Amino acid sequence: MVEPVLTLKHFFEEARAGRLSGIRCGKCQELAIPPKEFCPTCQGRDWTPVPLAGSGNITSFTVIRVAPRGRGTEAPYAVAVVRLDEGVSLLGRIVDIPFDSLRAELPVRFRPLITGEQTALGFGPA
Ligand SMILES: [Zn+2]
Repeated sequence: MVEPVLTLKHFFEEARAGRLSGIRCGKCQELAIPPKEFCPTCQGRDWTPVPLAGSGNITSFTVIRVAPRGRGTEAPYAVAVVRLDEGVSLLGRIVDIPFDSLRAELPVRFRPLITGEQTALGFGPA
């Protein structure tokens, strides 16, 4: 068993501290986030952690009006696919941006959403 360079646990610990990090494949240079064991492109596992700036643009978004069980009080909220400046995309919760201001290409910046022990990925105004 080889320990992954950047475990999911460590990824969320870093995110909680406000630092977004990805991993880059040493074989094919694929950038991945959140971390995974095998490279989706070449199936390699020669990963190197890379810090990400945390800024990007909204690719698409949706407003959740009926939340999953246990999260009913949080709705409505928006989730968006954000394409980071480094070229990878990830899903995050939108905070502090009115729904009617949301649009594709809107610049946003990563911020951790901390609820007790839980850390989620959020994006606020750039
Ligand atoms: Zn690869």
